[in-house]
Amino acid sequence: MLQILHVSKEYSTARGVLPILDDINLTLDRGAAVAIMGPSGSGKSTLLYLLGGLEPPTSGTIMLGSENPYAMTAADLASFRNRQIGFVFQDHHLLPQCTVLENVLIPTIVAPPSKTDFAARAKSLLERVGLGARIDHRPSELSGGEKQRVALARALVTEPQLLLCDEPTGNLDQDSAGLVAELLLELHEQHQTILVVVTHSDELAARFPLRYRMLNRQLREL
Ligand code: ADP
Ligand code: MG
Repeated sequence: MLQILHVSKEYSTARGVLPILDDINLTLDRGAAVAIMGPSGSGKSTLLYLLGGLEPPTSGTIMLGSENPYAMTAADLASFRNRQIGFVFQDHHLLPQCTVLENVLIPTIVAPPSKTDFAARAKSLLERVGLGARIDHRPSELSGGEKQRVALARALVTEPQLLLCDEPTGNLDQDSAGLVAELLLELHEQHQTILVVVTHSDELAARFPLRYRMLNRQLREL
């Protein structure tokens, strides 16, 4: 379960304090899928960074399961992020010098010792996203949609509890965007993560059972 409890965020800048999020509350159970829409600059990415353990809230609490990531030491938080949180960004953020398979395995490099055969899991995820025949290719040899499918496989390789996607189809043409969205929802269904997706696409948002709009520093259900 993901709990967002009275979470506020402000940034201190040279021109004073900039309030971004104001008393956000939301509880999501395992298997929940949520789309967040809203104008540019409204704080959608900021909220994902907070949920992803990348940026502490100014006040309030975020709990993933029974754990509060911001009460952890930096080392514990880094390992928690790696195991429990998958992130897909608008730009794939793949490492150009690594193969497709190596890119998918990156989150597992720092994972604690585990019985999981991550290489087998990565290959099966790459099969699942239709790139089983491309595991030895470099990202530069892939289309935008293919790169995003690799990023999706990478985000799921450690079987995270929480999958966060920040405009994952924002840089794709309509056909590729449709395919990536399809895979995202199918993989979510299979893995029963908690899925939070920020998107500008009405089409993508319409496929989510729960939809929110970020406006005036608050999250409103649509
Ligand atoms: P969105 O993803 O909805 O477009 P963001 O969450 O990226 O919005 O940004 C929300 C607001 O917070 C913007 O006005 C942005 O300029 C500001 N902001 C984001 N990060 C910082 C930061 N590190 N310092 C100061 N302001 C920031
Ligand atoms: Mg953003």
